[in-house]
This record gives sequence, C-alpha cells and structure tokens, in this order.
Amino acid sequence: MADKFDVVVIGAGPAGYVSAIRCAQLGLNTALVDNWLNPDGHAFGGTCLNAGCIPSKALLESSEMFHKSTHEFAAHGIEVDGKVKMDVGTMQARKQKIVTGLTGGIAQLLKANKVTPFKGTGTYTGNGKVEVADIEDAKKKQTIEGKHVVLAGGSVPVELKSAAFDGKQIVDSWGALEFDKVPKRLGVIGAGVIGLELGSVWKRLGAEVTLLEAQDEFLFMCDRQIAKESLRYFKKHGLDIRLGAKVSGAKAGKSSVKVSYDDKDGKQELEFDKLIVAVGRRPNSAPLLGKDSGVKTDERGFVVVDDHCRTGVKNVWAIGDLVRGPMLAHKGSEEGVMVAELIAGHHAEVNYNAIPSIMYTAPELAWVGKTEEEVKKSGRAYKVGTFSFAPNGRAKAMEAGAGTVKIIADKEHDTILGVHMVGPLVSELIMEAVVAMEFSGSAEDLQRICHGHPTLAEVVHEAALAVDGKAIHGINK
Ligand code: FAD
Ligand code: NAD
Repeated sequence: MADKFDVVVIGAGPAGYVSAIRCAQLGLNTALVDNWLNPDGHAFGGTCLNAGCIPSKALLESSEMFHKSTHEFAAHGIEVDGKVKMDVGTMQARKQKIVTGLTGGIAQLLKANKVTPFKGTGTYTGNGKVEVADIEDAKKKQTIEGKHVVLAGGSVPVELKSAAFDGKQIVDSWGALEFDKVPKRLGVIGAGVIGLELGSVWKRLGAEVTLLEAQDEFLFMCDRQIAKESLRYFKKHGLDIRLGAKVSGAKAGKSSVKVSYDDKDGKQELEFDKLIVAVGRRPNSAPLLGKDSGVKTDERGFVVVDDHCRTGVKNVWAIGDLVRGPMLAHKGSEEGVMVAELIAGHHAEVNYNAIPSIMYTAPELAWVGKTEEEVKKSGRAYKVGTFSFAPNGRAKAMEAGAGTVKIIADKEHDTILGVHMVGPLVSELIMEAVVAMEFSGSAEDLQRICHGHPTLAEVVHEAALAVDGKAIHGINK
C-alpha cells in the first residue's frame, strides 16, 4: 500500500520547501520529495541555496571586500603594508560553510514541522500518485500518494549546442561558483543577471572579463534609462561588454577555449581560460511528469498554470521556476505559500505586479513594476521623477555616489506604476517601493513619509518629490 499524505511536494527549492513548511503549519500531513545532489550528497534548498542565490552572494561579498581593499581603502587614508592577496580556497570554504549552514537549517525546519522527506526523483503519474526513485539507487522505487500534489522541480541552465558544457573550460553558473583559482581571461556568453553577477565576482578578483551578449540592447528587460546608465558603470569598472555578439562556436583545448562570434564588424575570435555560458534557464519539467499525468506544458516546457498555480488537473499545482513569471526565489516562495493556503481552504493570492527584481552587482540594480517604455506603450499618461545618489550625504560618506532612483507615476491618479534604481544597496531600498506599490501607494505617499537623515533612502524620497517638481536637493526640471 502506498504511503498516503494530504500533500506531496516534489522539489525542495525555495518554492517547494517553503510550500511544504506552510502546508505542515496548516495541519496538513506533508511529504517532500527532492533529488538535489551535491558532490558530498543530498541537500535541501534546490538551486537557490546550493548553486544560486546564496553561494553567488557569498562570493560577491568576498570579492567586493577584496576590490574595496585594493581600490577604495586609500581614499579613506587606510594604508596596507604589503600586497593584498586573495586566498580563493579560503573564500570558497567560507561560501561552502554558509551554504551548508543554511541547507542544514532547512533540514531542521522540515523535521521540526514534521514534513516527511523522500530523497529521490519524483514522477507524478496521475491520480495523486508519485513514483519516487531512490537518489542512491534509481532502481529502488516506491509509490506515495497525495490528496494534493505540488510540482516544484525548478529549472536548469540552458545549454548552447555551439558551446556545450564540458565542466572544465566551458561551465554553467554552478561551475563558475566553484573555480579554485582566478582565471586570467574569463569569457561569459550572456550579459544577463548571472553573467553580470558572476562576471563581477571574478573581475573584482583580477580576471579580464569579456561578456558576449546576443542582443543589441543591454539588459533588455530593464528600464532603458537605468540600463544605459548601468552599462556605463559596468564598463567603467572594466567589464568588457560586447553587444550584438552572436556566438557561432566554442572549442576547448587543453587549458583554454577559443570562442568565435559574429558582430556588426564581422567574424571575431577570442581565447579564454574559462568560459561561462549563462544564456538563461529552462524549466525542469520533463522528468517530473509521467506520460499519463495529464499536466500540460507549453512549447518551452513551462507547466501551464492559472493565476493561483492550478495546473488544470484536479488537486495538482505547480510553482516556482517551473511556471510562467520571473525565475526568482522569492516569487517561487510566495507561490508556495499561496498554494499551501489554498489547499487548506484559505483565501490567498500573489500580487505579480509587486515582485522586486534585483541584481547584486556594483552598483546594484533593482526594480519593481513597469518600465517607462511599458507605460508609454500602454498609452497611459504618466509623470517621472528621478534623483541621483551623487548629492546624498550617506552615499558620499560611502564613496558610492554613482546611481539614480527613478519613479514613474500615473499622471492623473498619482499611483506608482514602476520604480527603477541603480546605486548603492538598492537591493534593500527597493523594498520601500514594493511596500508602497503593494498598498497601491502614490508618489505623494512617499513624499509625505519622513525619511531618516542621512540615509540612502532619502534618494527615494527626493525622487518621489521630483515626480511633482518638488525635489529639495536638486534642480527640478
Ligand atoms: P529550484 O531552486 O531549482 O529547486 C528545484 C528542486 O527540485 C531542486 O532541488 C531539484 O533537485 C528538485 N527536483 C527537480 N526535479 C525533481 C524531481 N523530478 N524529483 C525530485 N526532485 C526534483 N533568485 C533570486 O531571487 N535571487 C538571487 O539572488 C538569485 N541568484 C541566483 C544565482 C544563480 C547563479 C542562479 C543559477 C539562480 C539565481 N536565482 C536567484 C534564481 C533562483 O535560484 C531560482 O529562481 C529559484 O531557485 C527557483 O526555485 P524553485 O524552488 O522553483 O526551483
Ligand atoms: P538572463 O535571461 O538574465 O540572461 C541571459 C542573457 O543571455 C540575455 O541577456 C540573453 O539575451 C543572452 N543570450 C541568450 N542566448 C544567447 C546567445 N546564444 N549568445 C549570447 N547571449 C545570449 O538569464 P541568466 O543570466 O542565465 O539567469 C537565469 C535566471 O536566473 C534569470 O531569469 C534570473 O531571474 C535568475 N537569476 C536571478 C538572480 C537575481 O535575482 N539576482 C541572479 C541570477 C539568476
């Protein structure tokens, strides 16, 4: 007889494990099936904790410190006696300790909430049944059953035929988090979020970094003004970003890789010590769905769902990177909570208009809501306020005056439609905009809030004032 549960969740990334915990908190008997495998065995947390958000941010932090010590200490009067050196092994060990601490923490949370774990590959075969193939011996199979099944298999890197991963010279984002020394010449295919974050890590540590981006526009999903400004900063920091570069092949030799591409000037060839391919991720739906599951996927493999993450098959739900919308950990977690609450009979929804996007580069980028181009295209009358970090006292104290906050509001009703930022710690500042938008706030609401001084948040305040030509510390146009 199959083990029976109220809910079986497949996939323990930030979408699945959060959903399982919330289900258990709501009194549902919950199982969580997961097949993530690190070199030292299984760990919960999926891509985000093991090979994504967390390890990348650990390396970004270490490399930023190194960069500051070599480029910014002198301005503060700090002299370093002798050469500052980076021990990549220590940096990697620190990263690993953070990852292990957090994944172990999730295992404890699951246990405390009485979620039953299954370490193996789950396939939804229909009628509430999930076949689990053991993670160590795939021939060992068992079937478990859920009144509800939540699919949360996440995503995997897109591979290019012209630059297939070899795990040595040509690597995906996970491989790029594991380098044991700084490559002298690093190539990155794709100047998207991963390319820019991981390119920044290795650039700050001394690599010559070249990013080959197929599109002619930089960060096409961002507000144009902010994208153009950030491109200037990244180029100034030494990232060699080549737009309109169509890669035609990558050939790995013993210790280097030759990449050929075409751009407006014709055929080009470059040689690198390492090549990261970061051209997007695709949903991990294939091994998750048995042939009779009845669950529909679209032409790109995303599981088709409605606004509440229902798949159309009764009591089968899908969340996270596996479904439409931005591939972000917090978006998946919110969907996981929503689905748990709906299963338990509560009301729940996700506000897809107020999901922040953040790039942890230097300077950072963050945005929420619509870009100016999207608002313009919609035909809606709007007004814009922008304010720079340059005159802000706190930013000056931090030697971090590069950047801008831009707020777009409806011309008639003043409702905030989008907020776009490039600058210091905008990963944190964006949350003020998210809260405002979640409460259908207006530019005037932000104008009337007393902001602490001296803080970076004053730039958000001034940008809101600038929407109506009322900025105090800048000239209103
Ligand atoms: P995943 O995290 O991919 O987890 C899916 C889990 O399901 C995995 O453990 C997988 O092994 C398991 N699984 C899959 N199929 C099966 C099966 N059939 N049976 C059993 N188990 C299965 N997002 C952010 O919001 N902020 C960031 O800073 C950020 N940084 C990133 C940096 C990098 C380098 C990368 C690669 C991604 C980053 N992301 C970031 C994206 C983020 O990692 C994903 O959006 C998030 O992990 C998606 O969560 P998920 O639960 O849907 O899927
Ligand atoms: P991405 O979509 O952000 O960027 C991929 C880039 O590669 C795009 O600019 C695209 O035009 C380019 N590209 C595609 N094919 C190409 C080709 N053949 N040659 C050259 N360029 C090509 O994808 P990503 O950087 O791989 O990241 C994947 C996902 O992970 C993102 O959707 C993002 O949501 C998530 N992520 C988030 C964070 C964060 O929140 N800070 C960090 C890392 C990853």
